[in-house]
Amino acid sequence: MTAKSSLAEILQHVQQQIRADFEKTRLLPHSGDAGTAREDLIRRFLEDGYLPHRYEVAPGSSHVFSTSGHRSKQIDLLLYDRLSTPRLLSAASVGIYPVECCYGMIEIKTGIDKWDTLRVGLENVAAFKRLQVRQGRHLSPHNSFGVIVAYEGSLKDETLLEKLCRWESEHDRQEWPNLIAILDRGVFGHFSQESRGLSLHTSEIVSAQELQPSRLLAGADDTLLYFYLCLVDLLNAIALPPTSLHYYASLPNTTEKHSYDWLTGNTAECEKHERYRLVLSEETLERILDACPVGAERDLAEVLNEATGTSVWSPGHLPVKVCSVYNPDKHPLSKIMSVRFGAGSRAAQHQLVQIDGRVVSLPGYYVFREQMTPCPHCDPVAIPAELTPDVWQDALGRRSVDP
Ligand SMILES: [Zn+2]
Repeated sequence: MTAKSSLAEILQHVQQQIRADFEKTRLLPHSGDAGTAREDLIRRFLEDGYLPHRYEVAPGSSHVFSTSGHRSKQIDLLLYDRLSTPRLLSAASVGIYPVECCYGMIEIKTGIDKWDTLRVGLENVAAFKRLQVRQGRHLSPHNSFGVIVAYEGSLKDETLLEKLCRWESEHDRQEWPNLIAILDRGVFGHFSQESRGLSLHTSEIVSAQELQPSRLLAGADDTLLYFYLCLVDLLNAIALPPTSLHYYASLPNTTEKHSYDWLTGNTAECEKHERYRLVLSEETLERILDACPVGAERDLAEVLNEATGTSVWSPGHLPVKVCSVYNPDKHPLSKIMSVRFGAGSRAAQHQLVQIDGRVVSLPGYYVFREQMTPCPHCDPVAIPAELTPDVWQDALGRRSVDP
């Protein structure tokens, strides 16, 4: 190679080298060893000075966490910030990282000869890109990237693009892969009709009007060059938020899409069984969120005063200041979240839960009527249709006066 070699020629040479090394890994008798060796080829290329120094490739496979409690699947190559990333596990073969330190991930596949192989890679990318970053008190989508790199592929272009299109129609754009590079075949990504160009960054994929998964290069000779140039672009475009490990000390409960934390007790007692942990289902969480629009929050002290007909709570002086109240049937709070005890006094009867960072008060009437947190060992209770707030309060009042 002469000193005049362009970057394209250099990288074509590297690509041939990686291909040749890949052929050698076929001699390894154990498929696990071959897989590790193939990850290492791409890892070594990236570590070989091709990446700006501030970007680090994780030394082994990785798991990434969000403060929402959600985590990625196992990641082949993780790219994180060299300067700001705390080491949460001192093992060379596997690492654990907070999502706020991570730029993106690369999923390595030996060969893509059937759709299922690509689909598994796409699901891994989606699980990583779904992870939200914390900015102050709020969680928001991360501008992270997910790229799939394969050494070879026999899946036809039309099949690949058609199935990819269908898979993407079933997933949020946030979860789509940024790029798919198959070394002996070429590069695939998203072509934007408006800008007549590639939508590479996650923010562009999310905001573009019409996107078409497309082959981006005519041949395969420049696959590594194109992958490399896109990777550096992707990395340079991401500004990471500061990481506060404090939030990782105690992670909330999760369902597939949501996370929640009880601010009042997280267990209940069953008359027949032992104490059990309160669990909310995905369905219940979605119902609660639907009925509690952002912007309708109230001061918790006022809510409690209204529910108990008193003025003992001073607005703004409780640890939790504002909350939404789950009240889809618009009953008076005094009927659904308080219970009589003694001579004419009333005590608040509700559970406070933080869902996706938002505090919601669940009035006792709805917790019971909708069986939100049933004992896992009891049969479901049939709630009579005539269970009005009055009937519920009477039943509870009798029980609290005369146990
Ligand atoms: Zn029970």
